[in-house]
Amino acid sequence: MSKLKIAVQKSGRLSEKSLELLKQCGIKLPNSDRKLKTEATNFPVEILFLRDDDIPQYVEQGVADIGVLGENEVLEKDKTVDLLERLGFASCRLSLAIPKDELYTGITYFNNKKIATSYPKMLAKFFVNNDINAEIEEIGGSVEIAPGIGLAHAIFDIVSTGSTLLMNGLKEVEQVMRSEAVLIGYPDIKAPQKELLRQLSFRINAVRNAYENKYILLNAPESAVAQICDLLPGMKSPTILPLVEKGWCSLHSVIREDQFWEVIGQLKSYGAQGILVVPIEKMIL
Ligand code: ATP
Ligand code: ZN
Repeated sequence: MSKLKIAVQKSGRLSEKSLELLKQCGIKLPNSDRKLKTEATNFPVEILFLRDDDIPQYVEQGVADIGVLGENEVLEKDKTVDLLERLGFASCRLSLAIPKDELYTGITYFNNKKIATSYPKMLAKFFVNNDINAEIEEIGGSVEIAPGIGLAHAIFDIVSTGSTLLMNGLKEVEQVMRSEAVLIGYPDIKAPQKELLRQLSFRINAVRNAYENKYILLNAPESAVAQICDLLPGMKSPTILPLVEKGWCSLHSVIREDQFWEVIGQLKSYGAQGILVVPIEKMIL
């Protein structure tokens, strides 16, 4: 039987979340330690555990049909792969940072400087686009210590909270790109694998929509229902149930999590009470 081969990071910042996503998509993996590969027990997929740096190459060659990794790594490796889905986790930015006491004068600061990074191709492209002539020192890890030990004047690296930079006496001065985990695919994927991928993508979207949305229930005076429905249009339209108390109803809808705090004040001003916001497990539009 055909199987869909999925490459995920063996160990690192993406591994747990990648497996968690598959689990939420209903894919059960045996409880073994991560060998090179494992097969799901209830869906025709095989998981290959690899270093994230190798995933683009495996997917370009079709050794894996799809792979989960950081967009930054996809751009750095620059292989011929399809970008299929953005996955919404492992969000970070890639930035240039310099010693905190240095005066930053703008991007020309980097002219004739030496910059340490694990992402040389991406940085070189950025410098070419900005007409900067700098030297790029490629190192494998612990980039943030490079200025302190005299290896480079500045660094180009992943930043999430900025605390690592702070601890190493650095400050972020240019954000070059934003990244998140993405799903990439083999451009010549065969028909049976393509069908499995379609099924998996459907599930991934249901999980992602569920993450991004909340179920909202509230009590409202009937006179405010029209205004509240405009504010909370939901998936098709809100559900309205009468309350025993005359003139009141219960309104159920769906709201994007990132919009919730913006509309809550308005809901209250319309007279909404007893507002409940609850998680959604799966959401199919
Ligand atoms: P490997 O051993 O597989 O080569 P690695 O050391 O290259 O792993 P990790 O540090 O595990 O990589 O990071 C993997 C990816 O996770 C990065 O390419 C980036 O997309 C994302 N990432 C890294 N650091 C952070 C962070 N602090 N916050 C959010 N996402 C991050
Ligand atoms: Zn890596």
